[in-house]
Amino acid sequence: MLSNKGRLFIISGPSGSGKDTLLVKLFKAVPEIKFSISSITRPMRENEKPGQKYNFISKDEFENMIKNNELLEYNQFLGNYYGTPKAPVIKAIENGDDIVVEVDVNGAAQIRNNVPDCTSVFILPPSLEALKTRLHDRGTESEEKIRERLLCALDEIKRANEYDYVVVNDDIDTALNDLVGIIRLDRLKIDRNLDLINKILEK
Ligand code: 5GP
Repeated sequence: MLSNKGRLFIISGPSGSGKDTLLVKLFKAVPEIKFSISSITRPMRENEKPGQKYNFISKDEFENMIKNNELLEYNQFLGNYYGTPKAPVIKAIENGDDIVVEVDVNGAAQIRNNVPDCTSVFILPPSLEALKTRLHDRGTESEEKIRERLLCALDEIKRANEYDYVVVNDDIDTALNDLVGIIRLDRLKIDRNLDLINKILEK
């Protein structure tokens, strides 16, 4: 049986771990990798554009997606829904493309149940202090929201042991190298190269 399928990479990390900046750099470094655009019900922030990282939809629309089984996973975070539409992910994998899904720890656990053959990476801030500073510097959230996000961050970090890899985002270029390294290494796995081996043997 030939194995030409793409790979699903789950990336998680608490708010303030710097994973968004890291992902922007990842898509420049590995441009052929696809990104799954989440559907969410949180209001759009000033610096965001629809269809870039998120599609902003209403609660009713989201609940219809749940009802119609259109989501690979979903979760509620601070009162809003966040979910991964199933169809684009399945299409990418079937086309042989690697795809990155950025989800929280609960979403990651759901995906591992549905797609066991995936690779998960947890982005860790170098310290709690660094996390606090980054959340404040971002300036997009009230003090109360920042506090809520910090508490969520601690809960998420407690579950980092569910992941295959950890990337510490202290120096962004080092973190990028580590992340790219994980993706490259995964592409060298034997089960991802069976078609090549078989092709050589057939000749
Ligand atoms: P933010 O509101 O800061 O953009 O994201 C809040 C949290 O939602 C982050 O932990 C982020 O990883 C997570 N998140 C983003 N998209 C999804 C998704 O599609 N599903 C789930 N379960 N979490 C998501």
